[in-house]
Amino acid sequence: MQAIPKADLIEIFSSIQGEGLLVGYRQIFLRFPECNLNCHYCDTDFTSTATCKVEKKPGTANMADWRNPVTLKKVTELLSGWKEQLPGAHHSISITGGEPLLHENLLATWLPGLKALLPIHLETNGSLPDQLESLIGYLDWVAMDIKLHSQTGERTDWETHRRFLEIANKKHCYVKLVVGENTPDLELQLSADLVRGVAKDISLILQPVTFDDKVGVSTSRLLHMQGVISEIHKNVRVVPQTHRFMGVL
Ligand code: SF4
Repeated sequence: MQAIPKADLIEIFSSIQGEGLLVGYRQIFLRFPECNLNCHYCDTDFTSTATCKVEKKPGTANMADWRNPVTLKKVTELLSGWKEQLPGAHHSISITGGEPLLHENLLATWLPGLKALLPIHLETNGSLPDQLESLIGYLDWVAMDIKLHSQTGERTDWETHRRFLEIANKKHCYVKLVVGENTPDLELQLSADLVRGVAKDISLILQPVTFDDKVGVSTSRLLHMQGVISEIHKNVRVVPQTHRFMGVL
């Protein structure tokens, strides 16, 4: 029988989802290393390390070090224990990064076991549609970004994001746009067109960039952007990174 691969992970913890449509729900977060993009505003340390930080008790932020790579057996035992300690507390398991779809083969072997514990929520930059296609059957929620050039410094690959959303829309999904004070209307209109054309009923979340744990976009600009998008796509919300104000993981 083929051995189930081990994973280099960065963190495993239980916390409040601070972004997007599931904001406020409690999740178990599995953070995977590495990313294929290099966004200007990135606040995540996704470098692979020798150890994985693991909460000793869920919700305490008191971390132990597990030597990488970790096994699925060890992770499922941990998560099963958290479920017993806190029955019903967790909405889902959030698979996050970095860009977790870079670990397509590993996720194909891990997700069935994890999904037996809780629904699976994938947080992704929306740039790897082939990898999403191969894993979509294991996913319950997909939170995808459309990466805007004005914020990331990288070219926006509209066609790849469109293909990605077509696949994500087979499950619960929503699109997140990280916006700054200088985000041009054209980027907002192109994003709204893309979302309306593929998935006209889903939520499009405007997430203002965060600087020093403060919202980095003025309210007047956010309301202007909300108005620009609403002319094209009706289901738009403004949701900042709430975990940054709450001081949770
Ligand atoms: S896609 Fe996400 S993790 Fe990757 S560089 Fe951009 S913000 Fe950071």
